[in-house]
Amino acid sequence: MRTLILLLFTLTPLTLLQAASTHQHGVAQLDLVLEPPMLAIGFSSPLANLNGYEHQPVSAEERQAWSRLLAQLKNADALIQLPAHADCSLSRVDLHLPFTTDKGEHDHRHTTDAHHPQHADLMAEYLYLCANSTAITQLVLPLLPAFPAIERLNVQLITPAGQHSSTLTQGQTELQLP
Ligand SMILES: [Zn+2]
Repeated sequence: MRTLILLLFTLTPLTLLQAASTHQHGVAQLDLVLEPPMLAIGFSSPLANLNGYEHQPVSAEERQAWSRLLAQLKNADALIQLPAHADCSLSRVDLHLPFTTDKGEHDHRHTTDAHHPQHADLMAEYLYLCANSTAITQLVLPLLPAFPAIERLNVQLITPAGQHSSTLTQGQTELQLP
């Protein structure tokens, strides 16, 4: 399903995509597109922020940690809280992983190259349908305390009110929408 990527590509200026692709440890990116009734949220981060390292899990312990991370990222309600009266339902979650796992996950890209052999990014996309999207005036993001290695979360918002950017740091979990 490439609808969200297509949508982000359609709605998001190239500069946002470039910003999202910057790999800097301690920094992660949240892209939100609200186009009623659809709400799309993309979360991308260097793997080091989420897992502590960026190589492919090898040991049994690393594989278990990797499985836990993927389960954590799929559990959207524990990372992103939408206003109840917005009446949103999570329609799907897509994880874009830097390497193939034995869990049947898709390998969307290889980040290993000669210049950055040890770096890898992960992206999670959450697609919601909201019956009352005008009620989405703010989000609560437990994903920040969930991943304390994220020092700064760069946020890009595209809503019917326009395009905005903001930055959240640890301790700030409320994201106001224009
Ligand atoms: Zn890295």
